[in-house]
Amino acid sequence: MNSTRPQRISILGSTGSIGTSTLDVLGRHPERYEVFALSAMSRVDELAAQCLQWKPRFAVMPDAALARQLREKLREQGGHTEVLDGARALSDISAHPDVDMVMAAIVGAAGLAPALAAARAGKRLLLANKEAIVLGGALFMRAVEEGGATLLPVDSEHSAIFQCLPEDRKTWHQRIDHIVLTASGGPFRQRDPATLRDVTPDQACAHPNWVMGRKISVDSATMMNKALEVIEARWLFDLKPEQVRVLIHPQSLIHSMVVCRDMSVLAQLGTPDMRVPIAYALSFPERIESGAQRLDLLTCPSLSFEEADERRFPGLHLSWAALRGAEGSTAVLNAANEEAVAAFLAGSLRFDQIHQVNQASLEQLQPEAGECESVEGLLALDARARRHAQDLMKAISA
Ligand code: NAD
Ligand code: MG
Repeated sequence: MNSTRPQRISILGSTGSIGTSTLDVLGRHPERYEVFALSAMSRVDELAAQCLQWKPRFAVMPDAALARQLREKLREQGGHTEVLDGARALSDISAHPDVDMVMAAIVGAAGLAPALAAARAGKRLLLANKEAIVLGGALFMRAVEEGGATLLPVDSEHSAIFQCLPEDRKTWHQRIDHIVLTASGGPFRQRDPATLRDVTPDQACAHPNWVMGRKISVDSATMMNKALEVIEARWLFDLKPEQVRVLIHPQSLIHSMVVCRDMSVLAQLGTPDMRVPIAYALSFPERIESGAQRLDLLTCPSLSFEEADERRFPGLHLSWAALRGAEGSTAVLNAANEEAVAAFLAGSLRFDQIHQVNQASLEQLQPEAGECESVEGLLALDARARRHAQDLMKAISA
C-alpha cells in the first residue's frame, strides 16, 4: 500500500447496506482513504447527500433521468461532483487510473461488468457482490489473475476463511482439508416448513442477526444465500465442491472455519457486524478500527450448531448440484434465483415457489459450449436463464 497519500476508492452501490457500512468505516480513517467515486441505482436524495459529504470526483447513476436529477440537486446545493450516467460509467469509475481500490457492493449480476473492469485494471477489489463471482466463475478469477488485481472477500464467511489462512495463497491448497461455512438459519430456522408457503416479504426480510438489503435477506431466509456462498467459496479458495460444507450456527458469532489437513480447526469470531470484514478488506494485511462492538465471551449466548434441514432449506443443495453440472450451471441458478426473489418481493410468487423456479431452471436449461468464456457469452446465458425463469413463473401462476 502506498502510505504517502490516502488510497482512493470507488464504491459501487454506495447507498446500500454494504455501501453505507463502508462509508462508516472510511469516515473513521480520513487520513488513509479518500472517496473517488460513488454510485447508486436509485435514491437520488441519498446519493446527493453522500456526494455533499464525501465530495467524490464522480458519481454514477445508470439511469440518465435520475442522473439529471442528481446533477440538478448538486448544482442547487453547491456540490462539485461530476455526475455520469449509463451502466458503462460504472466500469469507468472501477478501472479509472486514479483509483486504487473498488468496493463491489452492487446487488446481483448487474455488478459483474464493473467488478471485472476493476479486476482487469489490477485494482484492489473488495468483493461483496457474490452474484458477480457466482455468475462469472472461472472468467472472473482469470481476470483477477491476468489483471494482477488483489481480490479481497467482504462476505463475512469468506472474510473469516481468508483471515484464517496465511497471506501466501500458494500454500492454501496444501493446508485445507475442507472449510465450514456457518449459517444463521435465517428467520425460519424453527418454523414449520408446511407454513412457509404463507410467508410475506416483510417476514422473510426480518433477519434475526443481520440488517441487510432485501434481496440478500430473502436469500438468507431460503438459504439460497448460503448456496451462493458455497459457489463463491469454491472460486475464491479454489476448492472442490465437496470441500465446502455448511453448518447452522444460530448465534452468528463464529463466521466460518477452516479444517486443516492435520484436523486443526481455525475459526474467526466476532460480533455480527459487516464493518469488520469491510475494514479487513480495506486495510489487509494491516488491521484498522472498524467501529464494531467487542465480543464478550462471558456474556454472549452459548454457541450451538445444527445440520441444515434439507426439507426446510432445499435450495442449499442446489449449489453442489450446480457446481457438479455443466460449466455455466451456477450462472443459471443465480439468474433464476434473482428473478424468483424479485417476483416474491413484488408479491407475484409464493416463498416456497422460489425453490421450484430455481430447481426447474437448473434441470431444464443447458448452458451452451463456450458460453462461459466471455462476458458477452455469460450475459447472454444470464439473460436466457432469466427468460426461462419468467416462463416458468407464468406457468406456475397460470
Ligand atoms: P442493497 O440492496 O442494500 O444495496 C445495493 C446497492 O447496489 C444500492 O446502492 C443500489 O442502488 C445498487 N444497485 C442495485 N442494483 C443496481 C444496478 N442494477 N446497477 C447499479 N447499481 C445497483 O444490498 P446489500 O445488502 O448492500 O448487498 C450488496 C451485495 O453485497 C449483494 O451482492 C449481497 O449479497 C452482498 N452482501 C451483503 C451483505 C450485507 O450484510 N448486506 C453481506 C454479505 C454480502
Ligand atoms: Mg455471508
